[in-house]
Amino acid sequence: MARNSDKSVAGVENDPLDTPFMRQFLDLKRQVPDAILFFRMGDFYELFLEDAEEAAPLMDVALTKRQSSVPMCGVPYHSAEIYIARLIGAGKRVAIAEQENDPANPKLMRRRLRRIITPGTVLEESLLDGAGHSYLMALAPGARSLGLALADVSTGDFFSFDLPAAALSGPEEVARDGARIDETLLESRYGAALRDAYYKYAPREILAPSDYARELTALLPEARAALAPCEPWKASPTEGARQMATRFGQNLKGLGYPSEKTPALGAVGLVLHYLAKNFPDQIVAIGAPTYRESAGARMMLDEQTIRNLDLIQNQNEGGSSRSLYGCLDRCKTATGKRFLKDALLAPLLDRAAIFSRQERVGALLARGAIRARVAEALGRVFDLERALARMSAGRGAPRDFVHLRATVEAAGELATLGRELAREQPAFVEWIECAPELRDLAERIARTVVEEPPAVLGGGAFLRPGLDAELDRAREAQERGSKWIADFERAERERTGISVLRVKYNKVYGYFIEISKGQADNAPADYERKQTLVGYERFTSDKLAHLETELLAADETVARVEERWFRELEAAVLGAGPHIKRLMTALGEADFLQSLAEIAARRAWTRPEISPEGAPASFNLDEGRHPVVEEYLPTGQAFIPNSLRLHRDERSFAVITGPNMAGKSTYIRQIGLIQILAQIGAFVPAQRCALTLADRVFTRIGAGDNLTRGESTFFVEMLETARILNQCSAQSLVIMDEVGRGTSTYDGISLAWSIVEHLSEPEGARPLTLFATHYHELTALAERDFVFNLTMDVEEAGGRVVFLHRVRDGAADRSYGIHVARLAGLPEAVLLRAEEKLAELEKRHSESRVEESTKRKAPRRSARETLTDQTLLF
Ligand code: ATP
Repeated sequence: MARNSDKSVAGVENDPLDTPFMRQFLDLKRQVPDAILFFRMGDFYELFLEDAEEAAPLMDVALTKRQSSVPMCGVPYHSAEIYIARLIGAGKRVAIAEQENDPANPKLMRRRLRRIITPGTVLEESLLDGAGHSYLMALAPGARSLGLALADVSTGDFFSFDLPAAALSGPEEVARDGARIDETLLESRYGAALRDAYYKYAPREILAPSDYARELTALLPEARAALAPCEPWKASPTEGARQMATRFGQNLKGLGYPSEKTPALGAVGLVLHYLAKNFPDQIVAIGAPTYRESAGARMMLDEQTIRNLDLIQNQNEGGSSRSLYGCLDRCKTATGKRFLKDALLAPLLDRAAIFSRQERVGALLARGAIRARVAEALGRVFDLERALARMSAGRGAPRDFVHLRATVEAAGELATLGRELAREQPAFVEWIECAPELRDLAERIARTVVEEPPAVLGGGAFLRPGLDAELDRAREAQERGSKWIADFERAERERTGISVLRVKYNKVYGYFIEISKGQADNAPADYERKQTLVGYERFTSDKLAHLETELLAADETVARVEERWFRELEAAVLGAGPHIKRLMTALGEADFLQSLAEIAARRAWTRPEISPEGAPASFNLDEGRHPVVEEYLPTGQAFIPNSLRLHRDERSFAVITGPNMAGKSTYIRQIGLIQILAQIGAFVPAQRCALTLADRVFTRIGAGDNLTRGESTFFVEMLETARILNQCSAQSLVIMDEVGRGTSTYDGISLAWSIVEHLSEPEGARPLTLFATHYHELTALAERDFVFNLTMDVEEAGGRVVFLHRVRDGAADRSYGIHVARLAGLPEAVLLRAEEKLAELEKRHSESRVEESTKRKAPRRSARETLTDQTLLF
């Protein structure tokens, strides 16, 4: 760049920022102050000023200086994705400015903002997890509900719904960790539901009106980094409706929206505004967002149940292994994996839909040979949802065409296999149907695109020879040219006698003859000096220049013709977008069913029988197993199956006692998991299982402090319990582990006691409940109707205790806590003292009972009295 010696700004001679080039950069930077600007210069993206200083260490590239004072760094264009991934991973946003010719000033390249990449709008494969959605979530609070919209631009999924405000219950002010804090209206109305949505969809970015950002951070501190505040007017439902009309022109009612005023529309508006800002140049391939009723055909799962049951991730380890998802996932495609995750997070409530999935799993299970062929065909299916999204953002590649073709061909085979299964099993329906448009498109691709096209346009030949005469001629010229260059180099070496003479090419200087400094003086007179380097001289000659013109013309023709064909095919693919989306959903489901059948076959799972609608809630299990624990038991250790009989009108509430480590938690979780498996249409790990559909599965298991939210262990425990008691119905399944442990024994037992009474109240909701506890006092509640005791078997022999992991009717009399402490390696002195203390307490307790019973002669005492009596022990 020329030095502007005639310019001085604010007294600074040669202001390095006052050049046409830097002014262009600064103009663009003003438009994206929050993003790191990638400024295209030839084959590089350059970063300047504070962007360079911030990004260089994150990208692990060298920070240099432009004109000896402007901080700068750069990354090559073709490998930019890796660097962008590092910045996005560090929570940054990246703006991409591409260069183009300025017709007004042909000497100056102009740059235009093409895209702002944010965590919630990435399309790049390396930034996405193939098996999961990458959601952008938007929130728009309304007077009576909180609007939510979720968009996955990498797959084109887009939907919205409203979270109704919870009925306010209890005091508005609560004590947390001793301090009195005003419960904000938002927390009390939406807190729990919002957290459920956050954990369910795990959004990468959250849009919210800026005046709501502070409250949102208080509600969900863990989402702080993902939050992108927006101007509040963009969250108005009227604005959302306007955006929808402009963008999709579809009828709101037809998409399911209850009215033009529903807050969900405000959330949709936020998403559409954000996408328009981040993709200024293109229209992202995203469908009109449908409105989903929050209560409907799907079971609502709350945050704690998703986590407690390790549905998608293992709570302790974080990854998908040792989770239900990890255990079920035998999917061959990314689409199938996403389908499985979605299915687990929204089990079905519709018996017919479950039945239909079961039928297909059953058919695939029965026909192992067909199942293997299905799996093999699915192995040739590509993630077209994401390819489509990339293509619509102008980032498609020739490879995407062959992926489409391979997928359509695989879909054809799957359709045939489906028909074969349907012949034997008439209930086997709704398999793959591949639209004729897609078959035509696949054939067109087969005719035009080579088998192994390059990953990027311009990276090599992607069109078949014989398609386009102009292209073929240009390619021939290219080939001849390369041979000619090789021949020319050989001939010139011979003619000049310079053995180190080389003919080379680069983008700036084109073709040239390179001779090392030592030999350069021997260059013949017809060579014209082009460039001098430290060790080399570069020349050209008339012959070479002539050839170069021809070759460059051929290159230009190839690029132009390939680009034309590429754009035509791309338009055809984008035009078939809705068919592709439908096909991918069907393939995802097929893969999901294949995976369920495979796991059922490998692990001998059975089809659960689902009772007719309206039947009183029941759960009958013979020899059931925990699907995940079973898989991870050490070799040689067999999982002990257990059974269960629950019935709303007879035994609806099980109090489960037993020693530590005996398997209580495993048992009650296994019941929750089997209920969910049954409702996604899967087979279950049991010899036999018959159950009614649950409208909700609630869990209250263990408790960790949620200090980031300012909630103590006990407070969390009570919040979760309150929610269950307020929301459960006669059709719910409730699983509670160790309720009341986080406070003093008196408080704990009293609370646990009255919770049992409440949930087994004859006139109450009376859901099916499993209640594991160490408070043996609660076993006295079995004298109430509907309540019964279960315990874990233990064998004691010669001072040793063996956990049999077997559940039987009855109550435990001891906890074996000291025994487990010994197994864990507590010092012997501590253990001996504990044994002494235990004996003393037990003695005191039995004496007081004798005393009590001689004092009062009560024929039969209420459960409450028994409680007072038994807790005297402590
Ligand atoms: P605590 O009261 O201390 O929480 P617990 O009774 O809930 O204990 P679990 O955590 O369920 O016990 O089980 C302890 C371990 O026993 C499990 O990690 C598992 O390895 C094993 N286990 C549990 N149930 C079974 C079973 N049915 N068959 C084989 N092993 C089992």
